[in-house]
Amino acid sequence: MSFTIQNVLISEGEGYRTVDVQIQDDRILAIAPNLEVIGTAIDGTNKLLLPGFVNAHTHSSEMWQRGIIPPVPLELWIAELYEFTPLDPEQAYLSAVGTAIETLLTGGTTVVDHLVLIPGKEIETIEAAYRGYRDVGIRAFLAPLIQDEALSAGIPTGGDEVNHGDYVRPTQATLDLLQEAINQFHRPDERVEIMVAPTGIQLCSDALFEGCIELSDRYNLNRHAHLLETKAQKLLAEEKYGCSAVQHLKEIGWLSEKTSLAHCVWLDDSDIQIMAETRSTVVHNPLSNLRLGSGIAPILKYRQAGVNVAFGCDGSASNDSQDLLEAIKIGSILHSVTDFDYHHWITPRQSVEMASLGGATGLNRADQFGSLTVGKKADLVMYDLKSLSMLPRTDPIGLLILGRPVNVVSHAWVNGKQVISEHEICNVNVDDLKEKLFDRSEWTPKRKSIAVAETEARYRSVMGLPGTTIGYS
Ligand SMILES: [Zn+2]
Repeated sequence: MSFTIQNVLISEGEGYRTVDVQIQDDRILAIAPNLEVIGTAIDGTNKLLLPGFVNAHTHSSEMWQRGIIPPVPLELWIAELYEFTPLDPEQAYLSAVGTAIETLLTGGTTVVDHLVLIPGKEIETIEAAYRGYRDVGIRAFLAPLIQDEALSAGIPTGGDEVNHGDYVRPTQATLDLLQEAINQFHRPDERVEIMVAPTGIQLCSDALFEGCIELSDRYNLNRHAHLLETKAQKLLAEEKYGCSAVQHLKEIGWLSEKTSLAHCVWLDDSDIQIMAETRSTVVHNPLSNLRLGSGIAPILKYRQAGVNVAFGCDGSASNDSQDLLEAIKIGSILHSVTDFDYHHWITPRQSVEMASLGGATGLNRADQFGSLTVGKKADLVMYDLKSLSMLPRTDPIGLLILGRPVNVVSHAWVNGKQVISEHEICNVNVDDLKEKLFDRSEWTPKRKSIAVAETEARYRSVMGLPGTTIGYS
């Protein structure tokens, strides 16, 4: 299968250039003006072509709870999230499809799904998400979310003796599950790969991390985890290891060029140095960090230290959307308030590079996708410069990153296969998806969480907050 995009605008240096782009099979064959048409001709007039972005951290099934969890910090939010988590693998399928579609329509061609597993139906959950991503045609890195400690272990003890009880599944059983997921669903040739992804130091033992490292080395899998998303996690790491979480993860061998870490809000200068030395990637999820009050990640410091940074939406229950362009915008301009020296601020072109090449680098695939380069995979997105939100004509990339682009993606391809045509998703029926999402949900604005009520008093005490609770129950 080949095609040629004609007369399309691409970014070059600090400017733009109009070119033709030939695609043969899954790769970019040539980029130059006035090329011969191979295969189908696609009109790129008044359109901007960029490499696809990477939604480098999300949890697809959170889509079922978007817009409903009240404004509370992560440690309480997650108690409510798990209390009402979807239990039917078909829901995991639908939310994977929804996540893929929203990512594609906002410039993404790759998604990293840190997938919450339905207890007792773990492989079925992974199968459902795998099927969803294959159906839509997006490139997917499926990262089954695993832990081996009970949820209450994620809150610092403050020195008190706290009995958390055992997690539902022993560590080795979890690693066996991961092995099964690799056997069945690690399919790089079909654009779906498994990642090893313990949720983070707050709920995982060293044995679980070490088992994941072993699988990562054996099968050449990327590694993913949350890292120091909240202040509570920083306190917890000090209680658990007597050193910083980053120092500990370095010592056990978790950090590498194959490792991407979501959030990284509470790292200090020496932690940042370790991130740079180990070539680990920070996945910045600004909307989630604001929504949960987690803090502002020191992104300008990471960039100055040479740490690779990518963007993620994070799950839809802490965002509460999968609009990648929105995450990129906020994640870029947010940091200007942290540094008066505007020479350090992130420019729109830098944002584009972080979202594309930065995302690919975080997946150890910078040689395969993430830029418009001859020989690379054709993961491409074409933006309609005649959309209302892209007018009047000024700077296309400035409009895309700093504006509020609505319905601007006119065409997209993943691995050389078309996934969006004339603003429409190609491979699945979106009306049918909407119908199913509607039918399988209901308006529940007065939902109350018992788990939050049970957790809140300890959280407030450990975090030094006054004793009253906000009246959950
Ligand atoms: Zn997350």
